[in-house]
Amino acid sequence: MMNQLHKEKPMNELPVMNESEGIVLFHPHIPETAVEAVTSVLHSRWIGQGPRVAQFEQEFSERFGGNGTSIAVGSGTDALHLAYILAGLQEGDEIITPVFTCTATSIPFLYMGVKIRFADVDPETLNISVPHVRELINEKTKAIVCVHYGGLPCDMDELHAIAKQYDIPVIEDAAHALGATYKGKNIGEISAFTMFSFQAIKHITTGDGGMLIIQDNSIVQKAERIRWFGIDRSNKQKGTWENDITEVGYKYQMTDISAALGLASLHEFDQTLAYRQQLFEEYKKGLTGAQGIRLIGDHSPDRTHAAWLCTAIVEKDRVSFMRRLRENKIESGQVHYRNDRYSILGGRQDNLPNMDAVEEKYIVLPLHLKVTPENIQYICEVIKQGW
Ligand SMILES: *Cc1c(COP(=O)(O)O)cnc(C)c1O
Repeated sequence: MMNQLHKEKPMNELPVMNESEGIVLFHPHIPETAVEAVTSVLHSRWIGQGPRVAQFEQEFSERFGGNGTSIAVGSGTDALHLAYILAGLQEGDEIITPVFTCTATSIPFLYMGVKIRFADVDPETLNISVPHVRELINEKTKAIVCVHYGGLPCDMDELHAIAKQYDIPVIEDAAHALGATYKGKNIGEISAFTMFSFQAIKHITTGDGGMLIIQDNSIVQKAERIRWFGIDRSNKQKGTWENDITEVGYKYQMTDISAALGLASLHEFDQTLAYRQQLFEEYKKGLTGAQGIRLIGDHSPDRTHAAWLCTAIVEKDRVSFMRRLRENKIESGQVHYRNDRYSILGGRQDNLPNMDAVEEKYIVLPLHLKVTPENIQYICEVIKQGW
């Protein structure tokens, strides 16, 4: 019975590729300045949540948050769980969330007993399908979650119009979309809750970490309490503290070691983003006129792409395509899978025709700071020779 839903044969015969062997799919980016910054934290009094975390939150809000507040946590998954709690989701509530995403988007709903209604993908962008959200929404729906796949923002105006009609929040999983903009606004300042991830291979990494930007500043203190066992930490640090704990909290805080890494990366983020966007452009150029393959999210006049992933649709034989690349020392992969393939998330749904149509066709190509424009020209040449 194992894996009965997975139609494609597993690619076990392709061993994990080492970076000395060719162009790998992902590579973490750690600026040189981060090494010194972390060392100085290690020599200081604060290594857990201390002044560096506060500074990282402050600078992050200034860059991405509009009038909102940033809450630093231990992972993107923590940030999503925190957002779902702050959105008031209760056991038995329904939410609408995209089927095509990292499992991290969906799993926290299982912690809470919230019922997941998976929305299909838009065939052009692989973002959440707005028409399908309209179809799924009902009086029991308590939030709409969206993921900016690969770094291209979703149709935010349309999603907000639906959410407004039902008086429910939009929660953005922006793990792919740090630095993306939608109609001139930063991703981070648009919805009630926006989550970012600093996991190893994201735009900015803190080893592991995450950030939640909250636009309603009246719930920031609650967010800070839930991040730390339900305790008002800043009051407790004053010395005498005899208060009660009245909310279930978690140990979801970021450490100063992580925040030092985050700050160093934030300070050079504009260059990081520009370089990633340049590489994405290189793919666009290189694949112009290529047969049997098209890029996802490559034209978007009213929004900018954060270029976390370069994803393409290959019309036939994805396995041969991947083998052909690998013979030429190029790694590729799927990265995310439709979440309804997992038993714990309810198993396969039959109302997702766009996902069905692309599930064996999408492929992610290398795009990170160790990749050069010349590497991409080479990758595109290999692709154009066919598979
Ligand atoms: C990376 C990622 C996350 C989870 O982040 P972690 O920091 O690993 O918990 C969530 N959603 C998406 C879409 C991601 O790519």
